[in-house]
Amino acid sequence: MQKVEHIGIAVADLAEANALYERLLGVPPYKEETVETEGVRTSFFRTGPTKIELLEATRPDSPIARFLEKRGPGIHHVAFEVRDIRAEMERLRAEGFQLLNDEPRRGADNKLVCFVHPKSAGGVLVELCQSIEPENE
Ligand code: ZN
Repeated sequence: MQKVEHIGIAVADLAEANALYERLLGVPPYKEETVETEGVRTSFFRTGPTKIELLEATRPDSPIARFLEKRGPGIHHVAFEVRDIRAEMERLRAEGFQLLNDEPRRGADNKLVCFVHPKSAGGVLVELCQSIEPENE
């Protein structure tokens, strides 16, 4: 694993949260993106070498909607950048971690992503993410 790529934060209302984080961080979000397969609308803020990803549910059965119902808004996941997501998934499986995806999935921000179950990671939902070139879309 390399650096913390971003922190994911679940929000009830993306426009409201964008305004809050813009006041907090002093910069506007640099992009917004909907990932319909995950039922999520995201926005991203740059904070030094790391990013903040805000996540709003686009439908009531999306994982973010369920998270908000149970826990309310707040930190949702920590994402680590990896060079080779399949190799890292293999390594974590061998270490006994429970992965939530058998195969990497397409996430926001041109990433392949995979999640590690919080039960096997000390209560934290961990995301692995590997950058993919936009031309490979
Ligand atoms: Zn994320």
